[in-house]
Amino acid sequence: MDGQWQLCRGAQSIDICDPFTGQVFQQLPAGGAADVDVAVAAARVALEDSRWANLSAAERSILLNRLADLVERRVDEIAAIETRDVGMPAHIARLTIQVAIAALRHSAALARLLTNRTIEGGDVDYHVYTRREPVGVVGIITPWNGPFVLLCNKIGAALAAGCPCVIKPPELAPISSIYLMSLISEAGIPPGVVNLVVGTGVEAGEALARHPDVRKVSFTGSTRTGQHLIRLAAEDLTRLTLELGGKSPLIIMNDADLDRAVPTAAWAVFGNSGQACYAASRLYVQETIYQPFLERLVEFTRSLKLGDPSDAQTDLGPLISREHRDRVAGRVEAERRGGGTIVVGGTPAPGNGFGYYPTIIADAAPDSEVMQDEIFGPVLCVSPFRSLDDALREANNSKYGLAAGIFTSNISDGHHAARSIRAGTVWINCYAHVDPSQPFGGYGLSGWGREFGPDALEPFLEVKSVQVKLNRASH
Ligand code: ADP
Repeated sequence: MDGQWQLCRGAQSIDICDPFTGQVFQQLPAGGAADVDVAVAAARVALEDSRWANLSAAERSILLNRLADLVERRVDEIAAIETRDVGMPAHIARLTIQVAIAALRHSAALARLLTNRTIEGGDVDYHVYTRREPVGVVGIITPWNGPFVLLCNKIGAALAAGCPCVIKPPELAPISSIYLMSLISEAGIPPGVVNLVVGTGVEAGEALARHPDVRKVSFTGSTRTGQHLIRLAAEDLTRLTLELGGKSPLIIMNDADLDRAVPTAAWAVFGNSGQACYAASRLYVQETIYQPFLERLVEFTRSLKLGDPSDAQTDLGPLISREHRDRVAGRVEAERRGGGTIVVGGTPAPGNGFGYYPTIIADAAPDSEVMQDEIFGPVLCVSPFRSLDDALREANNSKYGLAAGIFTSNISDGHHAARSIRAGTVWINCYAHVDPSQPFGGYGLSGWGREFGPDALEPFLEVKSVQVKLNRASH
């Protein structure tokens, strides 16, 4: 906070656990409302003395690129932190750090493109223009499934727009966020511009979201917490960007390139052990290829190696915590009793860690819990369909709308699906290809607003109109 490490004021602490060994390897003091007050006050001073917003956008851009350079030099180190803290396989962790670097550079580029408008529609005796100004202190609340990349995305956009911020990292995996703070100082970003309070959601997170001096909260996490934040935000009309859960559909047409579709469908849901907001957890396969496709998918799934995430041969790591693993297992057991067929997986991995085998469920009813609710684990529901229209109807039978995909060699079907599916991103003949240049966010219960893309800074800006009365002298 304010450029210094400070000890939290409360007596609480948080255990940080390695999800692969199940062992606690660190204890961190947990901050609460009093710490959040100090952090927000530091950010507010930084806002009011304009130490950040008064830099030119080009200078902010240079500092963000410098931060990206520092991250780039530490990719392996940061990936190793993420692997231990989250249980994310090393190769996936490195990929997420590369996206983090791209996100910072994207925000740096957008800072240089900030422009305002001159308005010509009104009275000619007035010179009218707009100014876009930082919205104020931003609260950033991130989840544990990709803490570093999600944080870099959010601070990049906030800082490019000129907003000081206070970060509340996920209590289950806060270490890469803490590490980023030293890189932020090393990059030369002034003290007080970025502050971080480690703590739980209900203590530190809630205090941040409620704080009257926080003008915007950028949140990624569960739909349930997102809904709660909306209630908290009502008091001060705090602006919100919410990137929430999903139950994303992937459609495989019988003309698809199956050599690509099979592994992509598996990775689309099992990547990061299903702990991804855009995981394609509902798979619809055209009935004429349903059986052979399912056989190939099961074979591919069996070939995925679940194990030590730091081992280069490992495909899938453990789930984040024992509670989460037990929750995932409970969902699968409920469906086993409820009528679905567990085709593969359906059991926890042996050992003290929190592994769970990738699981495929067939014949789940369209309105069953496993088909409707986000599980956030390596659990895929597969269903056959007759026509593309049937598949699209099923794809849209969801309260979520984060992402979707279709594999087809018919370009018209691909575009028709993209137009018909209610989701923030539709991937055709690919899946989970995330690029900061493209907007990302959800329809329905998947959230509010978009991150990334050409308009990524807009949610962090207020628009002001300025009118100048022109007193023309009569000559
Ligand atoms: P998940 O179920 O993926 O952990 P959460 O929505 O619970 O998702 O957590 C995402 C982030 O939101 C975490 O940083 C967590 O600490 C924070 N959080 C959880 N509950 C609250 C809350 N009541 N107020 C503010 N932040 C919260």
